[in-house]
Amino acid sequence: MTGRHIVITGAARGIGAAIAHLLAADGHRLTLLGRRLDALQALAASLPPPAEGREGRHHCVVADVADEAQVQAAFDSARAALGPVWGLVNNAGQAQSAPLHRTSAELWQRMLAVNLTGSFLCCRAALADLRAGGQGRIVNIASTAGQRGYAYVAAYSAAKHGVVGLTRSMALELAASGVTVNAVCPGYTETDLLRDSVANVVAQTGRTPEQARAEFAASNPQRRLVQPEQVADAVRWLLGAGASAITGQCISVSGGEVM
Ligand code: NAP
Repeated sequence: MTGRHIVITGAARGIGAAIAHLLAADGHRLTLLGRRLDALQALAASLPPPAEGREGRHHCVVADVADEAQVQAAFDSARAALGPVWGLVNNAGQAQSAPLHRTSAELWQRMLAVNLTGSFLCCRAALADLRAGGQGRIVNIASTAGQRGYAYVAAYSAAKHGVVGLTRSMALELAASGVTVNAVCPGYTETDLLRDSVANVVAQTGRTPEQARAEFAASNPQRRLVQPEQVADAVRWLLGAGASAITGQCISVSGGEVM
């Protein structure tokens, strides 16, 4: 499968950028959505050009996924640039930790807004195109925190459990249309998001960065952090022709962490 128009949210760095590199190498036409145009354009310039496309380029669009109007405008822009959307990877996310008694309503709402409402808004904005295409794909990047609980991340974990529920329900609603909806659930993955978590542990506990990283890696039965490319590989498979009968599933990319 090649030359499909796929929207990736939160594409500028980390897991999103790894997904963009793999899908661009497969010849897909990408809309790269995020909050910083310069970072998106730098990524686009580093990707192989699409196999086909009106301008022979990937499309960059700025939007906060938690903002309904911005999401709608971004999908209008994506359609105008590269035609109907065939696939959507909901990757944009934030993870801020706090013990529950110090979890402010603002933090709670932001975790839900970016991770859960953002995924819902993007799914809804892409839906008409996905149905019309008949074989469209949605992959939501949830988390192992969407499959089990972890201390100090109740808001994030609640949001990612919500993403799993959204995935399972949409999959059933769309099954007869041929559109598949799945979630990929990474364990601790080596990106800026994890580096921020390490810095937070260091600040809160006085551990060294090496100790904090080792503790994150120790939760993975393979005793190492997941790499963004490993998550991207699972996404690529779910977008491929061989996965057309897979829907409503949550695939854990976590070295065997037991849920
Ligand atoms: P990252 O390096 O921090 O990248 C997150 C991306 O999301 C950035 O490009 C960021 O854009 C974008 N983003 C954040 N808030 C946004 C918003 N409101 N609107 C649009 N874009 C927004 O994190 P990552 O580790 O690659 O995470 C990617 C996904 O994997 C997230 O959904 C995360 O929850 C999930 N995940 C990560 C891990 C892990 O250990 N790293 C584990 C499990 C799940 P800016 O450049 O504008 O900030």
